[in-house]
Amino acid sequence: MKIFSFLSRVNLKTTIQDMQRTLVLESIEKIGETVKEQGWVDTVRDHGKITFIDLRDRSGIIQCVGQNLEKVTVESVVEITGKIVERPEKLINTDIKTGKIELQIEKLEILSLASELPLPIDTDGYDIDENVRTKFRYLDLRRPRMARNIRIRSKVTQFLRNYLHELEFVEIETPILTKTTPEGARDFLVPSRLQTGKFYALPQSPQQYKQLLMVAGMERYFQFARCFRDEDPRKDRAYGEFTQLDMEMSFVEQNDILDLTEKMFSTLVTELFPEKRIKESPWPRISHKLAKEKYGNDKPDLRADKNDPNELAFCWIVDFPLFTEQSKDDFFYGSGGAKWAPSHHMFTSPHPDDLGLLEIDPGKVRGLQHDMVLNGFEVGGGSIRIHDPKIQEKVFKLIGFSEKQKAQFEHMLTAFTYGVPPHGGIAPGLDRFLMAVLGETSVREVMAYPTSSSGQTAVLDAPSEASDEQLKELGIKLDEK
Ligand code: ASP
Repeated sequence: MKIFSFLSRVNLKTTIQDMQRTLVLESIEKIGETVKEQGWVDTVRDHGKITFIDLRDRSGIIQCVGQNLEKVTVESVVEITGKIVERPEKLINTDIKTGKIELQIEKLEILSLASELPLPIDTDGYDIDENVRTKFRYLDLRRPRMARNIRIRSKVTQFLRNYLHELEFVEIETPILTKTTPEGARDFLVPSRLQTGKFYALPQSPQQYKQLLMVAGMERYFQFARCFRDEDPRKDRAYGEFTQLDMEMSFVEQNDILDLTEKMFSTLVTELFPEKRIKESPWPRISHKLAKEKYGNDKPDLRADKNDPNELAFCWIVDFPLFTEQSKDDFFYGSGGAKWAPSHHMFTSPHPDDLGLLEIDPGKVRGLQHDMVLNGFEVGGGSIRIHDPKIQEKVFKLIGFSEKQKAQFEHMLTAFTYGVPPHGGIAPGLDRFLMAVLGETSVREVMAYPTSSSGQTAVLDAPSEASDEQLKELGIKLDEK
């Protein structure tokens, strides 16, 4: 409590600036003053007696110059005290913001001497072996491109968070140790020690919890939700986990969800990426059928010029069929040999005009599903949900749920008997959106610690073996290899 009231009184920015340390970029305002700056040695140029050090901190790079300095390696962390002076006209460097000044070193203190780095960090890094980049991710993130991506990501989440708070959305965390929430992928299981032989599942999305929050009367929910899916990695999805801006709203129709999401992302682009152009506003809404016929897929790339990095072509795909035919190798929860699998997920509402077809021709029923597409990537999906337990039961039946499987979702049916508002939502993928908007080659380029394509976690090298004691406590015996 004390800390909280203290923080609310103090302007944090001033506190940081008051720390006796001048940031590189602030040097511009300090010509003639003696300052103390701390950061990394970006480059060293040794000209015998005179040495030039480019000092880097979070704000930029400044040239520092001194005589008879102790030897320092690149990427070492140093503290430099000295005077900021103007550079002579002919030595001005227009490539950097501090190009008109330099720091004359009076004292150089090496706070931490760096060994030679295992990978170059002054290139864009695309050609470096992925395993090396993930193993030394903390160095890879020093790369200007990566540092920028991660900072932009933070700006984007801050924007979205503020935007939704303004609209009275409530930010709510939901459990990570939970029960399966089927989104059509394999679950990650976590063995329980307290109840030996039983397992938690990591959520494929907070789908059920967010719907239950609507029953709870929250009306407008969002969360930057981590979703876990054990499926093969792809360019637009990292293995294992990813982040969605998960949203759910009560008393809305599909159009309300599309409008809100469209306005929010359009404003975000205008404010944070002013160099980008949205190709068409309002975003085109295309039926699933038309998309398939016209573009051959349901995530068309509508850019006029695919080489233009500043063009953003958003569109909505709507009127999906509620079901797709289950194929033998579909990894679908219900399976059980039933003919139908949900196109989106099993909580998606059938189109009210097609309710009559549920019994007679399920393949013809449209679902109130919507996909948000950007430059050919499916950035997010959502739907209006079923809130009538009877319709939910019908869908369970059509997707071939056994009594036992149905029982796993009993809590939803029960909850819906206590007064549930009509509701729906969407979950734009944060990693995918950033990848598309930044024109990056993979979602891993916008994540701080992505897993490698073979499923190895960054730096910490999981998965790893468990000790015999741990396995014993969990009641797990491994097959001999
Ligand atoms: N849970 C869904 C998904 O992860 C999104 C939604 O329906 O809101 O795709």
